[in-house]
Formats: sequence, C-alpha cells, structure tokens
Amino acid sequence: MTEHHNSHEHAHNHDVCIEQALETAEAVCSEQGQRLTKVRRRALELIWQSHRPLGAYQLLAKLAEEGFNSAPPTVYRALDFLLAAGLIHKVESMNAYLGCAHADQPHKGYFLICDECQNVMEFDYQDIHQSLVKKAAEQGFELRAETIELTGLCAECRAQESSES
Ligand SMILES: [Zn+2]
Ligand SMILES: [Zn+2]
Ligand SMILES: [Zn+2]
Repeated sequence: MTEHHNSHEHAHNHDVCIEQALETAEAVCSEQGQRLTKVRRRALELIWQSHRPLGAYQLLAKLAEEGFNSAPPTVYRALDFLLAAGLIHKVESMNAYLGCAHADQPHKGYFLICDECQNVMEFDYQDIHQSLVKKAAEQGFELRAETIELTGLCAECRAQESSES
C-alpha cells in the first residue's frame, strides 16, 4: 500500500477534481458505448461536490431543485448506471455515494472514512482482494461483494487537532 498522506491533502483545488472526473466519465462512457445523459452527468457532478459521500435522497432533492425529472426511479437508474460504469462507489456504512477518481482503472472500492469531517478516501490495495478471494475459497465460498470501510481520523483533521492542543 502506498500512502500519499500529507497535511495538504484537502487543501486542494477541488474544481480540478470535478473537471477531471467529468472528463474521465465522458471517456469511460464513450469507450463503453454508453451515453452520459444530462441527468447522469449532473448526478455525477453533484456527487463530486465534495469528498463526502452523498446520499440518494440528498441527490434527489438537489436534482428536483434544478428541475430535473427527480422521480426516484430516474435518480436510482442514474445511480445504477454510474455504479455499473465504475464512476462512483457506494459507501455502504454511510448509505451514500462517492465519486471515483480512478474510474478508468477498474478496482474494488476500499475506503478510509474520517469520523471528524466525513471525507472518504479510497485506498488501492490489491493484496486484500487476493487474500480475501483465497481465504474465502478455502472455505468453499465464492466471494461476491467486499465491503471494506475503515474509520478514523484523516491527515487534515489530525493536523488540526494537534495544532489546537
Ligand atoms: Zn477534490
Ligand atoms: Zn474508486
Ligand atoms: Zn477528516
């Protein structure tokens, strides 16, 4: 596992994150022969408003505000599409959705969830996947879902805590 933690983790230009995410989304969709429709694109953009996962109801409310057809089936279909395309992940313990910054590289979503600011970071750790598959198979179990969500304090919040004390 490679760690990229530093105290500037969250002090970044988030517009760049959003811009890149939308660019990647366009590329991933055209590669898959899919269309990033208006509602899909706007849903993705809203999920990317921050690094805090967004719940389906919050998304629904925001889309309704903007005059989209925000009937739950429409919104859930858009979420299903974004999930299937690998553009977002579902953070199960928060029952909310997170934009993926590596949508062009298929991977399992493993998450570091900050108790303090609720920001969620992904960490890429192929070894976990391989060991889980292997260990489960030893018990004759076929793995279908892996929910790995670790909670704690992020670098930014830790820095803030130590500067306050
Ligand atoms: Zn960002
Ligand atoms: Zn991801
Ligand atoms: Zn934090």
